[in-house]
Amino acid sequence: RASSGPAGLDASKLRVTKTLHPTKLPPAEDLTFGSHHTDHILQVQWTSEHGWQTPQIAPYQHLSLDPAAAVLHYGFECFEGMKAYRDVWGSVRLFRPEINLDRLNRSAARIALPTFDADELLKLIARFVQLEERFIYGRRKSGYSLYIRPVIIATNSNLGVAAPTSALLYCIACPVGPYFPAGFKAINLEATNSVVATRAWPGGAGNHKIGGNYAPCIAPEKAAKARGFQQLLWLFGDDDRITEAGTMNLFIVLRTEQERCFELITPPLDGMILPGVTRDCVLSLARERLAPLGWTISEREICMSEVVDAAGVGKLVEVFGTGTAAVVSPIRSIKYRDTLVQCGLSRHQSARAITTLFKEWIEARQYAVEEHPWSVPV
Ligand code: PMP
Repeated sequence: RASSGPAGLDASKLRVTKTLHPTKLPPAEDLTFGSHHTDHILQVQWTSEHGWQTPQIAPYQHLSLDPAAAVLHYGFECFEGMKAYRDVWGSVRLFRPEINLDRLNRSAARIALPTFDADELLKLIARFVQLEERFIYGRRKSGYSLYIRPVIIATNSNLGVAAPTSALLYCIACPVGPYFPAGFKAINLEATNSVVATRAWPGGAGNHKIGGNYAPCIAPEKAAKARGFQQLLWLFGDDDRITEAGTMNLFIVLRTEQERCFELITPPLDGMILPGVTRDCVLSLARERLAPLGWTISEREICMSEVVDAAGVGKLVEVFGTGTAAVVSPIRSIKYRDTLVQCGLSRHQSARAITTLFKEWIEARQYAVEEHPWSVPV
């Protein structure tokens, strides 16, 4: 291969060194997101000269980096968040992994990190998940899963700001429990404006899953939390266009002029929106199951003024966020300028019908209660 240029990622070369010290499984009720990790790490080195090196699964370990490593200075880092589930028969499945791996490739390309053959990385991740299978607790209903975090970082230690010449692709995983163990908990959003913070902008990199998009969101989010709001609703532009909520895509259900007709709206993939896997699931299920009932399914721009007006005339039916962590997350209210917009929930309600339906429909495919090509056995 040396004569034909840098090597591609090759899963058949994988070397596995199992840990001699398996960790004790944490108690099921103690699985706060990201607080525990599994026993192993998957790693593949890359250099611009030689390409992808031998993939290795090894006992979980610290990384050793030169203090000049480009990731530590210029933010050459991209990542993914995906899950493995134990199906109703006890087997392990990944959910639409090819979308995550395509997205990782696009993120890597955007910040000059190396791209890879997604089929090969999928084989490596499948092997990694098989090895960590014991960390996926319970079966359906219990809501447990394994959160998988693939990452690519630049490791070259030249302080010049330039395209990385060496990189590390690695993957770790954490056992996670149900996001809403005691049933849905609706959250209150505070809408930003450009003075507070803007998450993404046209021509930026907000549609990619790169580390640099996340750290700048935390200080404004912390300030909003101190005012009693769980997440920010990221607006863009003079017309206060809605983009995303926290680290979730946003969906809005409006009652239309026609009797008993509804519109499901999410902002379009205009470069400021992360193309969420869950967003795509909601849109395809809506087109498959709600459109035949007369619903309009829209990927279109929507501004706060339209939401405020709809709420004012009783046409704002429900609002929810979507993401791998929670699947769907009901929204109770949005603080916008001097207005508190109520999003259709009564005081004692924690989620409305459509939010709940999407959670059930998506989970049915994740746990293979409904056998579907989205759920891939490993
Ligand atoms: N938006 C942002 C900014 C995110 O970080 C995420 C989580 N990846 C999402 C939306 C939801 O994406 P997904 O459904 O793929 O988890």
